[in-house]
Amino acid sequence: MPKAAGPKFIIVSGGVISGLGKGITTASIALLLKSRGYKVSPIKCDMYLNVDAGTMNPTEHGEVFVTDDGMETDQDLGHYERFTDIPLSRVNYTTAGQVYSTVIAKERAFAYGGKCVEAFYDVTEEIIGRIKAAAQGAEVVIVELGGTAGEHQNVLYFEAARRMKLKYRDRVVHVHVGYLPVPGSIGEMKSKPLQQSIQNLNALGIQPDFIIGRSEKSIDRKRKEKIALFANLEPDDIFANPDVGSIYEVPLVLDEQGLTDRLIERLELPKSKKDLVPWRSLVGKIKSTDAPLKIALVGKYFGTGDFTLEDSYVSVIESLKHAAWAVGRKPELFWVDSEKIERDGPAKLAEMDGIVVPGGFGDRGIEGMILAAKFARESGKPYLGLCYGMQMMTIEFARNVAGLVGANTTEADPKARHPVIHVMADQEKKLLKLDYGGSMRLGAYEMALKPGSMSARSYGKPKVSERHRHRYEFNSDYRRVLEKAGLVVAATSQVGKLVEMVEIAGHPFMVGTQAHPEFKSRPLKPHPLFVAFAKAATREESPLATPKFQAIFSD
Ligand code: GLN
Repeated sequence: MPKAAGPKFIIVSGGVISGLGKGITTASIALLLKSRGYKVSPIKCDMYLNVDAGTMNPTEHGEVFVTDDGMETDQDLGHYERFTDIPLSRVNYTTAGQVYSTVIAKERAFAYGGKCVEAFYDVTEEIIGRIKAAAQGAEVVIVELGGTAGEHQNVLYFEAARRMKLKYRDRVVHVHVGYLPVPGSIGEMKSKPLQQSIQNLNALGIQPDFIIGRSEKSIDRKRKEKIALFANLEPDDIFANPDVGSIYEVPLVLDEQGLTDRLIERLELPKSKKDLVPWRSLVGKIKSTDAPLKIALVGKYFGTGDFTLEDSYVSVIESLKHAAWAVGRKPELFWVDSEKIERDGPAKLAEMDGIVVPGGFGDRGIEGMILAAKFARESGKPYLGLCYGMQMMTIEFARNVAGLVGANTTEADPKARHPVIHVMADQEKKLLKLDYGGSMRLGAYEMALKPGSMSARSYGKPKVSERHRHRYEFNSDYRRVLEKAGLVVAATSQVGKLVEMVEIAGHPFMVGTQAHPEFKSRPLKPHPLFVAFAKAATREESPLATPKFQAIFSD
């Protein structure tokens, strides 16, 4: 029988518990195949009825990652971009909310021609259509199914996966990621929960082709044989994903066990030569740096019950790591709750090499962020303000240097005496209509940098494009008075001349950007602004761009 042409699909599902690093596994598979020369395209299928991730609380769902085309997506897209260095778009992210809205809109437009519209046929077809659309000319689509096997709410995604296998046969491979606990009281790796998860998959009509076992330790042969027996597989189809020092080691761990070769073989992809060399040297560099670089991240989306969650700031955290490695340091990051600074003052920040105030919304904790900016300005500690962090830095400067008592953002104080940060005109109309979904100033915009500024020297070029996600902006009515007091407007947007970056003249490094450069940092291409900040934080030499320094991040 002739083989059907078209893209191949690797479907990645999860089992036993959430938080197994399915996103990292998907990103790793994408990187491994890309490094062998195949064109890949990942897609995340979220089970939520939210249309996008923009309206979700970061402490509940993690960071909202923004693509160039302005889609507010799940944080896993950030991992895909960081691992593959492929800029993704809205076709790489779908939610049950998008799927259902499309099906309902089509029904209302009589697109089903009077037929009874059914979830198991029409919703699954819509899902399959979206997965196929994500290919965009790629040879392999890597599909991450949100949630775990056996949950009622994602059953239609699994049904779509089952049908894809039925329809495309040899072009579909299913990889199941499950958990292998080593309970402290027993001290032995237990495989029963994973066996049950495989049974859940089987009950959904899916036979996995490969199993990846997440655990503290590697999986021994005895357990591989046992898992294989219950999964109708060979022991060589079971791969271990043990705890490693950095997420960037995961692709190497999987590749060493032969996962890339097995995927290529199973999908009958044309043979190609291996090239993981740059990634391998990155991991080598990560492991060999030990002089610490201490960075405080002053935010408010850390707490969830008794636990601290880093997911809300994952791209910022990863960007700081990339930059620290680029300057030969080991990143040591400290989560500083801005509400704690409000209570206890900024003294803790004195121990740090640098301070980052990331994005945020609402009035809770902002006085702590403003105190952090004041501390950085007065002490000469390197400071990087990202979106809200730039707005906080502007307010601090307005209040304490320009003498504008009562300066604030109208987001926190609608009646601020000096609204140095105010709502954008079009955004105000949207807020009045309660139009909250996907309606911020989103996606990539170009900005022109002020020649000679710290920002321009950091980027090493006069124009850059960065991704945005905000409703409020620097109020240009205050531009003159703030500039007169010493604030440098370091970048303005090409369209509309919005103030996009500010910095403090004479400070070793105090830069704020309205954008989210953290979405564009890659481990192999650390972001220039983060590198310049990290370099300033080392205090080894002036952060002013030297030719050697420029070479680190020039494209
Ligand atoms: N809350 C601010 C605004 O909407 C900043 C947004 C952000 O940090 N992403 O403008």
